[in-house]
Amino acid sequence: MKDPLIARERMIEEQLQSRGIRDQQVLAAFREVPRHKFVEDYLKYKAYEDYPLSIGFGQTISQPYMVAIMTEALRVQPSHRILEIGTGSGYQAAILSRLCSLVYSIERVSALASRARKTLDELGYFNIHIRIGDGTLGLPNDAPYDGIIVTAGAPHVPEALIEQLNQDGSLVIPVGDQSLQDLKRITRTPEGVKEESLGGCRFVKLIGKNGWSS
Ligand code: SAH
Repeated sequence: MKDPLIARERMIEEQLQSRGIRDQQVLAAFREVPRHKFVEDYLKYKAYEDYPLSIGFGQTISQPYMVAIMTEALRVQPSHRILEIGTGSGYQAAILSRLCSLVYSIERVSALASRARKTLDELGYFNIHIRIGDGTLGLPNDAPYDGIIVTAGAPHVPEALIEQLNQDGSLVIPVGDQSLQDLKRITRTPEGVKEESLGGCRFVKLIGKNGWSS
């Protein structure tokens, strides 16, 4: 990667806009956040490529397009407080932090949480609270949230997450077996809970009390 700015602009055009990502605020967030800062040095030259990358501990930073689809699906507003399950590198949290007032992000691997915290502090993204713990239980103390995003694949939708949504808030979550999941958007409406399917995807496992056991 010679020039990160050029690589980033190309990623936005070729991977996001060309595949139908239209939300101008979401595209602006991708323009602003330096994705290469969220991977280790030996992978920096691949940071803007069209696939997920290893972040250690058997985990990955998601493909840019998947981050974009999920972010767009959340319909984030500037006043929103958003909860992310699965901090990983902190990249998804960084994108969200450009679009809303406050992001809570929970990670089960403490070494990933502290590395993400460091990256986000260096970038000056201070409206992100990182917590260590089991995100399948949500984060009840700071609930309700205007949106919840789960960036690991769940065997079923954890009920606790729906309960922690505000009225009209959405939960975006990959649900399925360990090799393939369906990306779902579950919205709390006055008429009840509405569920939509946004297509197939493949994530690492959501491990916890209301997820996979290991
Ligand atoms: N959003 C991340 C990518 C996450 S990969 C990014 O932008 O880089 C999925 C992450 O979910 C991994 O870091 C994994 O450790 C974490 N995870 C899995 N199960 C979890 C749980 N129950 N609670 C919190 N984090 C979990």
